[in-house]
Amino acid sequence: MTAQDLNSRDLTTIPHTHRKLHVVTHGCQMNVYDSARMADLLRPLGYTTVDKPEGADMVIMNTCHIRERSEEKVFSALGRLRVMKEEQGGRMMIAVTGCVAQAEGEVLAKRAPFVDLVVGPQAYHRLPELIAQAHRKQGVVIDTEFPADQKFDHLPDVAAPQGVVSYLSIQEGCDKFCSFCVVPYTRGAEASRPALSVLAEARRMVATGAREIALLGQNVNAYHGEGPDGRVWTLTRLLTEMAEIEGLQRLRYTTSHPNDMTEELILAHRDNPKLMPFLHLPVQSGSDKILTAMNRKHKADDFRRIVAQLRDVRPDIAFTSDFITGHPGETDADFEETMKLVRETGFALAYSFNYSPRPGTPAAALPQVPKEVKDARLYELQAELRRQQDEYNLSTVGLVTPVLFTGRGRYAGQIAGRSLYTQPVVVEHGAELTGEIHMVKITRANANSIVGTLINPPLIPPLSPPLSKEKIAA
Ligand code: SAM
Ligand code: SF4
Repeated sequence: MTAQDLNSRDLTTIPHTHRKLHVVTHGCQMNVYDSARMADLLRPLGYTTVDKPEGADMVIMNTCHIRERSEEKVFSALGRLRVMKEEQGGRMMIAVTGCVAQAEGEVLAKRAPFVDLVVGPQAYHRLPELIAQAHRKQGVVIDTEFPADQKFDHLPDVAAPQGVVSYLSIQEGCDKFCSFCVVPYTRGAEASRPALSVLAEARRMVATGAREIALLGQNVNAYHGEGPDGRVWTLTRLLTEMAEIEGLQRLRYTTSHPNDMTEELILAHRDNPKLMPFLHLPVQSGSDKILTAMNRKHKADDFRRIVAQLRDVRPDIAFTSDFITGHPGETDADFEETMKLVRETGFALAYSFNYSPRPGTPAAALPQVPKEVKDARLYELQAELRRQQDEYNLSTVGLVTPVLFTGRGRYAGQIAGRSLYTQPVVVEHGAELTGEIHMVKITRANANSIVGTLINPPLIPPLSPPLSKEKIAA
């Protein structure tokens, strides 16, 4: 079957209420949010989501372009979809969305002509119209425009419930142009969603069961949305209003940039009782020379200062971060600076990646660090971060701490939840406690989760006790 045959399917013959949609999500939490919103958009067109691509009428592959490996994953997954599409006689419509679609639109259409739609992250709200176009037209329909109006304004109000822990996108894009990063090119300029629209969606989430909401953005702490009073609201202001929502118990925000960690936001970790003692703050490197080369516009000591200030106002706060090893120009001495920063800080968890040259970004044009050098540094860094994660989880053993229960555990008789510090918690208990917060004594730490027992008689926990670990443990 030729690519053209594969693109000439007629979905109009499928009963309106029986269309099956399968969405594959790669990459960050913002993509997870976008995938859910695309499913919301297509529900009124008769699409219900299914777990497998086999037999689906439409498959959306929501992609990530942040590293080369993420992009390779897309092309190999598309190869498998092509086979399925052929087996279905070309009936399956394939849409590629997200950052690979944005960055590689034309290339994608050439390399994978059996794809029907290529849609950039700013054009999701036009999906129904683009699907209709794809029905009429032979070949690939591409929409990778950055429209002046915001996609947030066009997304439907009715969203499928995400569960006890829900994610809410409040800011998109980035103007910071770090030397290594494709986000400013794939997601466009930084734009914040108006505060009223965020608050309305948060209330709807709580009405359908959310108890914890994480606000999302590429640089979420740079949020500057229009407030109902006509003024610009900062993230701190928004978090203050969100804390007033009845039934909402916990608030988080991610991902933050050190340069936007303002004094008022730091103090919110002391003053906002619903704001969790947890912060994901990528620093990327501990070397000032490399931070300058990365165009981060902050020094390693700025990161140290922010960590110290936050620990001062909220002693039990847990930190996570992102690191890149082998950025162009990184010497052994620069890498040692990163290791020093890691050892000094003590992370609950951190993500680390080898630098991956992204076409069109400034660092990609510079002389590269050899792969074996990058690999060796990443190995050393990850060993230290793993050690810190284990040490952190172990340090919570013996604590009596509030756990928000999110559902059943993996095994019968278990319930699962989240600690204040985002650790997955497992408790052996038969009762249904989903959506409730209970005090749990942590008894054991595993590699990626902690285990505890419910405190009996149950204590009514404070939302986010502003106490040091020692005090919580008492
Ligand atoms: N806005 C956040 C910040 O300023 O740190 C990060 C967002 S980025 C989508 C997520 C992470 O991917 C980055 O923190 C960085 O560590 C990693 N990353 C981005 N581009 C990369 C590249 N070219 N190679 C390796 N890692 C990369
Ligand atoms: Fe990418 Fe974050 Fe830098 Fe923006 S601030 S360019 S999203 S790494």
